[in-house]
Amino acid sequence: MRALLFSDKLAFSEMMASLLRDGFDIDILAFPDHAADLTGYGAKEIKGMEKEDYAADSLADFIAGMSKDYDYIFIGATVLGREAATMLSALTGNVMKSEITKIEISGGKARTSRLYYGGKTVLEEESDAKIFTVSQGLVEPSRTAASSKTTKVVNQKTSKITVGEKIEKPSTSVDITKASVIVSIGRGIGKKEGIEKIKELATLLHGELAGSRPICSDYHWLEVERQVGLSGKTVSPKIYMAIGISGQIQHVAGMRNSKTVIAINNDKTAPIFQECDYGIVGDLYSVVPLLINAIKQTGQS
Ligand SMILES: Cc1cc2nc3c(=O)[nH]c(=O)nc-3n(C[C@H](O)[C@H](O)[C@H](O)COP(=O)(O)OP(=O)(O)OC[C@H]3O[C@@H](n4cnc5c(N)ncnc54)[C@H](O)[C@@H]3O)c2cc1C
Repeated sequence: MRALLFSDKLAFSEMMASLLRDGFDIDILAFPDHAADLTGYGAKEIKGMEKEDYAADSLADFIAGMSKDYDYIFIGATVLGREAATMLSALTGNVMKSEITKIEISGGKARTSRLYYGGKTVLEEESDAKIFTVSQGLVEPSRTAASSKTTKVVNQKTSKITVGEKIEKPSTSVDITKASVIVSIGRGIGKKEGIEKIKELATLLHGELAGSRPICSDYHWLEVERQVGLSGKTVSPKIYMAIGISGQIQHVAGMRNSKTVIAINNDKTAPIFQECDYGIVGDLYSVVPLLINAIKQTGQS
């Protein structure tokens, strides 16, 4: 079974290739800057685009032209990827399933899993879908020994989208999806100044700071790029510390693939304790300084 993979984000392409190369013969359509990095991820061919294309319609049209050579198309569920995938589905008349977390092909049918009801449940479906957007952070990207053939492709499709004005999004250049340790804070922190102590803990653990939606999107105490959850980032670090986070499903949807979860909360009935490997019931302002001291004393930093 031949599959074409595309994402405008390099890390996404690496992850999808690592996830799918055992089940499919994969080729990757790549933005020019990503093509060289993607050899060694198990693709037969890397189709390096001559230039980046952020117009979903011309991108979809371009991929539609290649689709007859493939049984399945997988697109990373980024903002551009989601838009292009739906257009591709309309252009080719093929069924699309969005944000899948698992896939298995059996008897010509695709058996997929995806989060449903805001992450409350996992929906397993069997369908004739040929196009999929893939959730982020499903596996750790890993290289293979085999190298890939690299070719150049040129997208000559034109976009009907007119760009009125380009406004650079202020970026913190933080990518919490790559962090192996995440120290995440929730509304339990109570005041913005409290973040300093958590920052100290994150630094000692060589981790990145992250937060729940109230902290990032409502109070803006942390940048929105650091938000974990359904409307934020999906992360899968080795260690995820949830400090003063209740563990609502929309938050858990973004961190449930973490390897080890440590929760600190002063309410022993908080749902986060159902999601963690280690739980500490207590006031974060007492527990966090104790942890900092313990790490300093054992010289673990
Ligand atoms: C469509 C939709 C999308 C959403 N997307 C997201 C998302 O991407 N990410 C996200 O996080 N949320 C998201 N939410 C919001 C989500 O439902 C919750 O409201 C949010 O996760 C709660 O954040 P919190 O845990 O920080 O705050 P709270 O639920 O208020 O929890 C605070 C916790 O801190 C504890 N606490 C208080 N004081 C202390 C103390 N001194 N020491 C220790 N613990 C203390 C409390 O016991 C409580 O459990 C979304 C909601 C919707 C409807």
